[in-house]
Amino acid sequence: MEFSESLSNESTTPETKQLSNMLFQHVSQGVFILDHQFRIQNINPYFEKISGFSKEELVGTRFMSRDRNYKATVVNAAKNVTRTLETDGVFEGEFFTERKNGEEYPAWLHINSVHDDQNRITHYIGIIGDLTERRKSEQRLSYLANYDTLTDLPNRTYFKEHLHQFILQCLEKKSPFGLILLNLDRFRLLNNLLGAKGADQLLKQVAGRLARLKIRTRVIAYLGSDDFGIVFDTSDSNPEQLREAAQTLQQLFDTSFNINGQEVTVTVSISIANFPENGQQLDTLFYSAENALKDAKKQGGNTIIFAGTQKQIIPHDRIFLENALRKAVSLSQFEVYYQAKIQPQDKKIVGFEALVRWNHPEKGLVSPVEFISLAEEIGVIGQLGEFVLDQACAQIKAWADAGLGHLTVAVNVSAQQLQRGNFLATLDRVLDKHQIAPMSLELEITESLLMVEREKVRHLLQEIRNRNVTIALDDFGTGYSSLSYLGLYPIDVIKIDRSFVIQMVDSPEQQAIILAMIAMSHALSMKVVAEGVETIEQARYLRDQGCDVLQGYLVSKPIPANQATQLLSNRTVQLDL
Ligand code: C2E
Ligand code: MG
Ligand code: MG
Repeated sequence: MEFSESLSNESTTPETKQLSNMLFQHVSQGVFILDHQFRIQNINPYFEKISGFSKEELVGTRFMSRDRNYKATVVNAAKNVTRTLETDGVFEGEFFTERKNGEEYPAWLHINSVHDDQNRITHYIGIIGDLTERRKSEQRLSYLANYDTLTDLPNRTYFKEHLHQFILQCLEKKSPFGLILLNLDRFRLLNNLLGAKGADQLLKQVAGRLARLKIRTRVIAYLGSDDFGIVFDTSDSNPEQLREAAQTLQQLFDTSFNINGQEVTVTVSISIANFPENGQQLDTLFYSAENALKDAKKQGGNTIIFAGTQKQIIPHDRIFLENALRKAVSLSQFEVYYQAKIQPQDKKIVGFEALVRWNHPEKGLVSPVEFISLAEEIGVIGQLGEFVLDQACAQIKAWADAGLGHLTVAVNVSAQQLQRGNFLATLDRVLDKHQIAPMSLELEITESLLMVEREKVRHLLQEIRNRNVTIALDDFGTGYSSLSYLGLYPIDVIKIDRSFVIQMVDSPEQQAIILAMIAMSHALSMKVVAEGVETIEQARYLRDQGCDVLQGYLVSKPIPANQATQLLSNRTVQLDL
């Protein structure tokens, strides 16, 4: 029977009949026609497809009734639909039904009644859509929004939401509970050792061990990077129980991991925050735990620390600081200081490092250590960085105009600054504005930049190099860099971190490391700058080992531009080297 016949509406023309038949045959929705007693009169091919029944099997049977062995739940749901149709003449809504093979599936159902001249119901026309795929993608979206796909653990968003809800519950009942944060020690080093894939493998295995933890927890989540968070039930949350739980967590790492045949030993830092003592709100509680974790790391890792036993950053202060910093950036409340670098053979000043200071109206000069990472977090590092670059280039120009050329001024650029926004456009704009020789500008990058999106970063650095701007790797040795892959990047200068220089004089091991760094850099045609040189012994030792440039308080502290110009007037510094 044709679709149009099953409705036998005489007013339709042959063309519209033909069109409606076409539609009936080919539409990707199940279409069906019921008589006034809900017996199926006709179904289209798509209905056959989603229901699994053929037209012959269904025609004449009641809509989703026992006639075709539908489950009781489906039959009852269908009864609801027919009841609604009897009273309202129309049904629209979600409907859980079943295919011929017994598989249940969610469907969208829309049924309308068709009336004759006397307004009696003669038929019902229904449309049914299979919602299985949509449900799957919704579930997948919700999985993606709440779970981390690498570790299969709940993610940070889920964790914080859960923690928030739990706090609300516990506030009411005044019940205490514990929050534990766990961080893998020396993860960057491990990352370098294992490569990105190996590090992922490690995180997966760590997650696996945590998930098998034999302690009652409310939620164990992967918070990103190498951080994990655990919320404990109130019944297991007195300080002694939490300490034991933390120790059990630590013991999970007693056995080493096997990453692609390589045995890897991992230790962890753990912080414990108690609700409500360490915070009655999500932010305060979480910050307490984060701060304690930072302290655990400072103590060298492999440590458990209770929050509240150290100095706390109050989020209120942080919000205050954030606002102040935003304002400072918009008002350019910063000043660039310059620290001289000398060549040890002739004590000649070869350049400066530009170091930014925040000229805080009340606090005075604030060190970049206190605000650079905040500037990154709140997204103003680009603006701040451009300010410093602009100032430094203006200074290069001023010195060149004063006949003090052949200087290199180094500007620190953070990884985020390079990765976000269009750094190259900024660089071009500033170089063009001040008309300086690009050779006199050096950019100091940090190892963390080399860790991510390697191809992209290499390309970016190559573009910088193509402009004849020098690239220096700052704080070398503190990150994860392996000497072997430094050669892959267009790096001209290596800056040995101050921590090596400090320990150098009385530690043969540190001396060996410094020697190796110098030899390696020279082998890769890179220059070596030693940072934080404070004593004449350090300076002599470094000079004797072939270090190219010295920087540190011994030569000069970072000073304002006018003082740097004064220092430059002699070209060399007075030192008994
Ligand atoms: P950095 O680039 O490693 O800069 C060297 C830091 O060591 C400077 O600290 C400098 O004042 C200090 N220093 C230099 N010589 C000595 C010494 O002999 N002894 C000691 N104890 N310290 C010495 P500062 O100026 O506080 O800067 C800290 C860090 O902030 C810098 O480390 C750099 O990473 C970052 N920074 C500074 N200015 C900027 C900037 O404009 N942009 C970005 N992204 N980061 C910046
Ligand atoms: Mg630097
Ligand atoms: Mg440095």
